[in-house]
Amino acid sequence: MNFDFTAEQEAFRKEVRAWLEANLPDDLRGRSFASSRADRDEVARLRAWQKTMADAGFVGMEWPREFGGRGASIVEMIILYQEMARAESPQLVNRGGVSMLGPTLMKYGTPAQRARFLPKILTAEELWCQGFSEPNAGSDLANLQTRAVLEGDYFVVNGQKVWTSMGHVADWCFLLVRTDPAAAKHKGISFLLVDMKTPGITVRPLRQMTGEAEFNETFFDNVRVPAANLVGKLNEGWGVAITTLAYERDLLTFIRHISLRNALHRLVKLVRERGRAADPIVRQKVAALWIGEQALQLNGYRSLTRILRGGQPGPEGSTSKLSWSQLDQELAQVATEVIGPASQLAGESAWAPDEGQWEFYALLAQASGIRAGTTEILKNILSERVLGLPKD
Ligand SMILES: Cc1cc2nc3c(=O)[nH]c(=O)nc-3n(C[C@H](O)[C@H](O)[C@H](O)COP(=O)(O)OP(=O)(O)OC[C@H]3O[C@@H](n4cnc5c(N)ncnc54)[C@H](O)[C@@H]3O)c2cc1C
Repeated sequence: MNFDFTAEQEAFRKEVRAWLEANLPDDLRGRSFASSRADRDEVARLRAWQKTMADAGFVGMEWPREFGGRGASIVEMIILYQEMARAESPQLVNRGGVSMLGPTLMKYGTPAQRARFLPKILTAEELWCQGFSEPNAGSDLANLQTRAVLEGDYFVVNGQKVWTSMGHVADWCFLLVRTDPAAAKHKGISFLLVDMKTPGITVRPLRQMTGEAEFNETFFDNVRVPAANLVGKLNEGWGVAITTLAYERDLLTFIRHISLRNALHRLVKLVRERGRAADPIVRQKVAALWIGEQALQLNGYRSLTRILRGGQPGPEGSTSKLSWSQLDQELAQVATEVIGPASQLAGESAWAPDEGQWEFYALLAQASGIRAGTTEILKNILSERVLGLPKD
């Protein structure tokens, strides 16, 4: 494989680099690897940043032109992500919309749904949250009990979701509901698009150990959802959801990689500043992280290539999510060791390195092996569906 870039690709890199230099707001630069999605002001800033990027044509570059993208090649995508990491840009705030719902609508949505929703996903004018998990349906998602009953032109939704990231700031939710309780578990589920301003929705924040409330409990009490907001066929939402989850584990991890790379570069700086660069144990750990980061990137290229050639992520995409979460947690651990006790200091302290982002990062990383599929579930998927090992 030839890893060299052509003259046009190098010109594109120059264009992106100059654009990021000129446009990335100072208050977002450098606070990029552990940025909050709980604080409303921060979300507003991130939203404005995504709009600026979208207006310049840098969001959803890989989407076909008919859906508002550039139909960009894998190489341009790689260059964009490399340059975002280099500039210490945060990830896209509407990443669930861009990387999960967008591709799902391109595959299963009606022309009206695509025209209505895709443009505002790109610009973050409408922020999306994911309403899948319930108190008794996490890993065992097909156990979900939130009911939707079709009454005329509306579904009437009752039930509860949990761990809804950004539910408190989202405009819309892609929601899994049970529409046929008599059917087998994986049948009788449907996929709905729900306006979060609809009467009957209550969002209650859940405080996490980071001290923030980035996710929420979401209650639905006789919520009326237009039947036109059904994605795919009635009672066939499981297949739609599997597509969405595959994009979450594969494509979204590729984007999460920006934060990981930012954190790694910061760690190298910290190691040097703290005089630890000659310590062989620290060197070995940093080198292992660096190799892992590179492998993650290459694996991401492989998935992206398949998607851009018209395919879709399969169960093997779980390797990206699995290795990202392991790297993320190892990185947080190594940073904590290098910084020592000051790694526990939060942002307000003058002694907290990088404005306390490491303390936040170390706590947040605990969730990496849970969100978007737990480590155990991903290992099950890989052993059973990729390696073909027996279920028992
Ligand atoms: C930060 C964060 C953000 C999230 N955001 C969202 C969101 O926006 N929207 C949303 O819908 N959900 C979200 N989630 C929920 C997430 O998808 C679930 O937490 C996850 O699927 C696990 O489900 P659970 O918490 O119910 O744990 P459980 O499924 O109860 O699992 C508990 C433990 O048992 C293990 N386990 C369960 N089943 C098996 C099995 N068959 N074999 C081996 N081990 C097993 C698990 O690996 C885990 O260690 C978020 C979670 C986190 C941490």
